[in-house]
Amino acid sequence: MDLLSALQDREVQVRAGAADDAVDDHIPGCVARPVGTGQVATVLREAHSRGAVVVVRGHGSKLTFGGVGVAPDLLLDLSGCGRLLEHQPGDLIVRVEAGMPLAALQDAVRGSSQRLGIDEPVPGSTVGGLIATNTSGPRRLHTGTARDLLIGATVVLAEGTVAHSGGKVVKNVAGYDLGKLMVGSLGTLAVVTEATFRLHPIPAQGAWVSTTVEAADLEQLLARLCDTQLAPSALEIDWPTEGSITVAMLLEGTTDGVPARIEAARAEFGVPAAVDDALDWPWHLPAATDGSETLLKLTSRLGAVAELASAAHDLGLHVRGAAGSGVLYAGVPASTGVDDLDRMVQDLRARAGRQGGAVVVLTAPLEIRRNVDVWGPVNGLPVMQRLKQEFDPGQQLAPGRFVGDI
Ligand SMILES: Cc1cc2nc3c(=O)[nH]c(=O)nc-3n(C[C@H](O)[C@H](O)[C@H](O)COP(=O)(O)OP(=O)(O)OC[C@H]3O[C@@H](n4cnc5c(N)ncnc54)[C@H](O)[C@@H]3O)c2cc1C
Repeated sequence: MDLLSALQDREVQVRAGAADDAVDDHIPGCVARPVGTGQVATVLREAHSRGAVVVVRGHGSKLTFGGVGVAPDLLLDLSGCGRLLEHQPGDLIVRVEAGMPLAALQDAVRGSSQRLGIDEPVPGSTVGGLIATNTSGPRRLHTGTARDLLIGATVVLAEGTVAHSGGKVVKNVAGYDLGKLMVGSLGTLAVVTEATFRLHPIPAQGAWVSTTVEAADLEQLLARLCDTQLAPSALEIDWPTEGSITVAMLLEGTTDGVPARIEAARAEFGVPAAVDDALDWPWHLPAATDGSETLLKLTSRLGAVAELASAAHDLGLHVRGAAGSGVLYAGVPASTGVDDLDRMVQDLRARAGRQGGAVVVLTAPLEIRRNVDVWGPVNGLPVMQRLKQEFDPGQQLAPGRFVGDI
């Protein structure tokens, strides 16, 4: 019996793949939409017994993220796993299913004046997709990333075993903090079905203090701002291909405290700075993330952010991102071909490498992802390969998407 019929027999919602389900030009033979962890386990057990290659889809907005993987036989659509399972406002904890949109999670906890401290620059992200891609936005400076806020997870392993972080010990994966391993794994280790996060109270007040600077003054200004005791929630820069650079600091806190911190921040800026409580530009990435454009992620130690941003700008890229966390994004002009992009990436990798950072092609059109090394040099590859071998020895979960062809 084929996978489609076997799953129909198990009463899982299943259908043949269609053009809209394509992953890197490959239409999967089968699309399953399980409801709840138990059905995800059923689907994975059936897929495992047939050696089927499985790709997970949350909202489906970032399936071009990472390397080009092996053509999937099965697309596991988690949109049926979107329930809020538990919210304990007193303990600042929320537990949800992984297919829940991040925006729905935020809506659910907002009534208690709480939030998950992770921004959503691309609308639609599900909690599972957020964990699997370890995305972060401006507030990373203050609250960290999913890795810091995730306190528990339920995952289903490739062969269909259900495991809970901090709970049930699974023979092959004993000793690992399962939830944290999932962060950034791009769906290659296991399927996240439930996640528990630590929440933060929504601050009573918040405002952006921002200014524009010339390239020559950027390094000094960032050094000064990184050195303050103002405890900003975000410190961002935006450097379009033409025009001057915007530097903005987000201050959040109590109604009594924020105005004084704003004044202190303006003094630190040392140049005329505007105050705006609804500055929304830092949430938008400088390129589309649906695989139609090329978007790089550039990291470095804090002291080298200006140098790296300047090098990317000189190559004609639009640079934007968290100057206070050393994480920048660069949008590449659509006309850039494979060879030119390759040269740009090599150049930026050499610079970032000297400054303790890295350059990754996060997403790009298929031709570029096929012909450019999207990851570059990565430390600790043998450990990652060993983990993949332990979690997914049959290479069934999104093989090829992660570093080192994991
Ligand atoms: C450069 C960049 C920065 C971004 N920064 C942020 C940010 O700061 N905050 C933010 O909210 N969003 C951010 N995003 C957007 C964010 O990446 C996507 O919105 C989100 O990751 C996609 O979620 P999705 O549900 O569409 O996942 P999909 O596109 O469906 O899946 C993304 C990846 O995760 C895997 N996956 C999905 N669900 C699961 C699961 N349950 N278990 C295992 N694997 C799974 C998929 O197979 C795929 O490899 C950023 C995107 C980019 C490109």
